[in-house]
Amino acid sequence: MSASLFISDLHLAPERPATVALFLDFLGRQAREAEALYILGDLFDAWIGDDDDEPPYPAIRAALRDLTASGTRCAILPGNRDFLVGRRFLADTGCELLADPTRIDLYGTPTLLMHGDLLCTDDLAYQRFRRVIRNPIVKRLFLWRRLERRRALAQDYRRRSMAAIAGKSLTIMDVNPDSVLETLRRQGARRLIHGHTHQPGDHALSLDGQPAQRLVLAEWREGQGEALMVGPGGWQRLVLGTVPGAG
Ligand code: MN
Repeated sequence: MSASLFISDLHLAPERPATVALFLDFLGRQAREAEALYILGDLFDAWIGDDDDEPPYPAIRAALRDLTASGTRCAILPGNRDFLVGRRFLADTGCELLADPTRIDLYGTPTLLMHGDLLCTDDLAYQRFRRVIRNPIVKRLFLWRRLERRRALAQDYRRRSMAAIAGKSLTIMDVNPDSVLETLRRQGARRLIHGHTHQPGDHALSLDGQPAQRLVLAEWREGQGEALMVGPGGWQRLVLGTVPGAG
């Protein structure tokens, strides 16, 4: 099939077996039919290092490897939860790593792929925090710690992140419209696909008098998911239901 699939914000974790089961099912079916699968960030609710062998991570790595071995290209553009995905994960799965942003030619349309958090420029506190944790030295210091210590730090971070989100408005946590247009213009793209905001939708834009689009991916939750399918003729959203008998 001449089509590419885009997903993001699955937030896979040991305590979300239904969503993990749905993702594994999706990799074995819809994703196999596609030319390419793009995972635009937050595949994992937390990624504390490629050496984490807690279930279900080994099964997820194996399923991604089966997918890439079957001939579907798989690219990962990390999000704010899984930016520590590293070389070993890529070698284990056959996935390729994309920078944020990455511009691709998608069946003739110059398309910009992002996780989305970089566009939330109204959230100054988050952008400051992002610069700190993405610093290569900070990342290396974290990865030097023992796995158990990293796990505890990640849990603590998730708690604080939930508390911070509770105090912020939806507008602050959404993308800034001017940042979107500026980024599209700078990157020479007419279409943007991103996740992160959990506010899915198709937005028609006007970029210097020309039509442009911003397609926002949906988060997955409790065994419900969505994939954006883009082909030469346009796009559609695939609704992925609960897998019978799973979790
Ligand atoms: Mn995110």
